[in-house]
Amino acid sequence: MQLGDYEIHIFAENRWRIDGGAMFGVVPKVIWGKMVQSDEFNRVKLDTNIVLLKSDKGNIIVDSGMGDTLTDRQKKIFGINSDSALERNLNSFGLKPEDIDIVILTHLHLDHSGGTVKLDKERKKIPRFPNAKHVVQKKEFEDAKNPDERTAATYIPENFLMLKENNLLELVDGGKEILPGIRVLPTGGHSNGHQAVLIQSQGKAILCPGDIIPTQNHLKIPYVASVDTHPLETMKVKKEFIKKATDDGWMFAFDHDLDMKLCRLKKVNDTFIPSKIEA
Ligand SMILES: [Zn+2]
Repeated sequence: MQLGDYEIHIFAENRWRIDGGAMFGVVPKVIWGKMVQSDEFNRVKLDTNIVLLKSDKGNIIVDSGMGDTLTDRQKKIFGINSDSALERNLNSFGLKPEDIDIVILTHLHLDHSGGTVKLDKERKKIPRFPNAKHVVQKKEFEDAKNPDERTAATYIPENFLMLKENNLLELVDGGKEILPGIRVLPTGGHSNGHQAVLIQSQGKAILCPGDIIPTQNHLKIPYVASVDTHPLETMKVKKEFIKKATDDGWMFAFDHDLDMKLCRLKKVNDTFIPSKIEA
């Protein structure tokens, strides 16, 4: 779709699985189990959705998915059965990785930052987007570099440290306009340094809320993943975003939804009903 000056495409980089309890936090399985199916290991399916913005000012992607450098053991844990579709999708929109100028990472969890690296012929990790600056909150980088016992399993430090060594990381501290109409908005909540991305052009707006609202099933305020480091903050920011969506007509691009990549929200009584938009 066209959003003002930007041509926008949203696609799934891959499909993976995560424990349903980890995804829905305090919500009991008898409730979330009616909304999504789980497998024999209690895992639910998630996509890693990428937002691509093409313009004459530059080509941007928001998040990069899992990538294709995971070990067989990691693939088994995350239930990944297919190859990363990142480059194939970029190609279908006429782009090579070298054509990407900016990669905005909502945060550095491996399902968002894994695609920023690839393996060379000697199976050594190298940057996938050699001409892109990779925009990350400084706080996220510091935390991800020194994870604690609870967050360690969600980060692969060698990936983003390698981006840093290659001078491809741009660490930002707070909100910033990255290109005209494209802003990062620090949120905290899911991780201390998590950020959302707001795309505004010619009176229209799309918000990429990242893991603050990963799927349409997380629009309800207490539906917060148990991996969030500051769940109360997630709820607060989520309320603000939902208000913007209903008052100002912001569309939401969900980063992990299987069917609804982009939606508009309508308030009906006290619930928010998403309606799907093709992008
Ligand atoms: Zn995450």
